[in-house]
Amino acid sequence: MTAIYLDRLDRVRAAMSEQGVDALLLSVGHDLPYLTGYEAMPLERLTMLVVPRDGDATMLIPRLEAPRVEAQPGVFELQPWDETDDPTALAAALLPGASTIAVGDQMWARFLVELLPHLPGAAYRRAVDVVGPMRMVKDQAEIDALAAAGAAVDRIAAELHAGEIALVGRTEAEVSAELSRRIIAEGHQKVNFAIVAAGENAASPHHHAGSRVIRENEIVLCDFGGTMNGYCSDITRCVFTGDVAPDVAEAYAVLHEAQAAAVAAATVGTPCQDVDRAARRVIADAGYGQYFVHRTGHGIGLEEHEDPYIVEGNATPLEAGHAFSIEPGIYVPGTWGMRLEDIVVAGTDGPIAMNTVDHGLHAVDA
Ligand code: ZN
Ligand code: ZN
Ligand code: ZN
Repeated sequence: MTAIYLDRLDRVRAAMSEQGVDALLLSVGHDLPYLTGYEAMPLERLTMLVVPRDGDATMLIPRLEAPRVEAQPGVFELQPWDETDDPTALAAALLPGASTIAVGDQMWARFLVELLPHLPGAAYRRAVDVVGPMRMVKDQAEIDALAAAGAAVDRIAAELHAGEIALVGRTEAEVSAELSRRIIAEGHQKVNFAIVAAGENAASPHHHAGSRVIRENEIVLCDFGGTMNGYCSDITRCVFTGDVAPDVAEAYAVLHEAQAAAVAAATVGTPCQDVDRAARRVIADAGYGQYFVHRTGHGIGLEEHEDPYIVEGNATPLEAGHAFSIEPGIYVPGTWGMRLEDIVVAGTDGPIAMNTVDHGLHAVDA
């Protein structure tokens, strides 16, 4: 792995040169594991990778967390700090003369605020501009990891379709807990979310599974994913607890067509916003346009949501190796909602679906 991190760090430094960035500071978030293999604990004690453009990288780490770090020779020096040290002063000392500093998006504001007086006059940028474009283009090992995670959630979705996951009479929260158990059982190390939304609750796209009991003859939206060997899965399938109601069936046919149209549009060279438009056009033409209230998708990799975003206004052309969700939805407030989501990788021979489980709205007796 060390060779991979050395190569990524080389490319990061090239991007820093190009963008006039003197130093890169990374803490909580996934730029750090992308470059070092280490994920910072989201705690009040500062962990920070300091990457000067023209010097060796140093990872400042609370001494008690130092044993967690796997050495990557040549990638960074480890500098543990003690309880009575001021870690932001130590960081500033590693940055003599730095005037343009790129800071990781998810670094806690308190650390940046504490750093500011140590580096008067420095200008700050977002690290996503330096690391994001690299992280977007997945290499084959990353695509394989996304495919393995995708296959795992596909198996759970197939169980849902087959009626093997009990629904009627249980609460959304109970079904969410069962999905979570299955996510781990299928090989993920971590559950990232398991949205279960029944009936009218499905009209809230990020509904939090709660005490609502699932009844017969309603739609149940399940959107779930986890992290497997560092890479994320994310899938949405809906089922109907009975014979599918005509209004739901009609809308679902539109949703299905819209999702397929966006997947087909996701070819190398196509601007991200055109993929969004491909889905939106089908939904709008059928008269449901006002009910599709979010972007079509988000990039995925080490994080569930990362660049590139499949959204109007993002003219970035897709490149081979870009990985993202295609997840249009139709949400009728107070009535029902539906979403259909796959992860797709743009490939030189066309879009490659990481999720291939059936896309239909299954009537389940469960
Ligand atoms: Zn989401
Ligand atoms: Zn999802
Ligand atoms: Zn998603």
